[in-house]
Amino acid sequence: MRLIFLGPPGAGKGTQAGFICQRFGIPQISTGDMLRAAVAAGSDLGLLVKAAMESGGLVTDEVIIRLVQERTDDPDCVNGYLLDGFPRTMAQAEALDEAQVVMDAVVEIEVPDDEIVRRLSGRRSHPASGRVYHLVNNPPKTEGLDDVTGEPLMQRDDDREDVIRKRLETFHAQTAVLSSYYSGQTNSGPVFIKVNGLRPIDEVKADIVGRLERL
Ligand code: ADP
Ligand code: ADP
Repeated sequence: MRLIFLGPPGAGKGTQAGFICQRFGIPQISTGDMLRAAVAAGSDLGLLVKAAMESGGLVTDEVIIRLVQERTDDPDCVNGYLLDGFPRTMAQAEALDEAQVVMDAVVEIEVPDDEIVRRLSGRRSHPASGRVYHLVNNPPKTEGLDDVTGEPLMQRDDDREDVIRKRLETFHAQTAVLSSYYSGQTNSGPVFIKVNGLRPIDEVKADIVGRLERL
């Protein structure tokens, strides 16, 4: 099972990706999580991508394509994987096509911009695992702490209103086009699944799982 998750920042991709990966036993490849780990470690990659991430812009296609290629070559990817946050530009989608990787489905989670701002302002995360919470919509059992490890939750530097607006602009300018790119591939390409992301987390989950199980 090879899957792509599309949708604006804050649509719930990471949240749903966690469920789907558990259900189908595939690794979650989140380019955002990988890049944040590199920044936190102060590696060469981290230094290269820090400014773009802080400003709400995109990291260059070349860097991202190499990162994903290396990750999908790992042995745990032989039975499939879920791409969360990649591709994000036409050039990245074309690189996937050129690598002749057969994707089974593209899941797009639709959420309007005003809801995105509310979601991202309340987002808290556990960086080591990628688990995400929301102050109101999906609070941890104990305030400020991860449910599984009990470690402190963090607020991402780019989840501030000014950067959120910039990320939404970037999404509309460079990523939104991928929806029509994949929905237009009726015969040859992956199955295109569009879900309404405005419903509660469990309903969105049931919808996605149900539609993937029918593939
Ligand atoms: P993405 O990976 O697309 O950026 P996340 O999964 O990190 O999105 O979700 C963004 C924020 O919205 C998090 O705080 C998460 O808890 C919350 N969230 C996710 N799905 C829903 C939903 N269906 N309804 C309400 N809040 C949600
Ligand atoms: P979100 O939760 O908002 O969807 P991510 O965690 O996926 O955000 O990504 C955080 C940041 O990492 C992005 O704003 C961007 O700077 C960078 N990034 C992640 N994935 C990509 C990608 N495929 N191409 C370019 N930049 C990326």
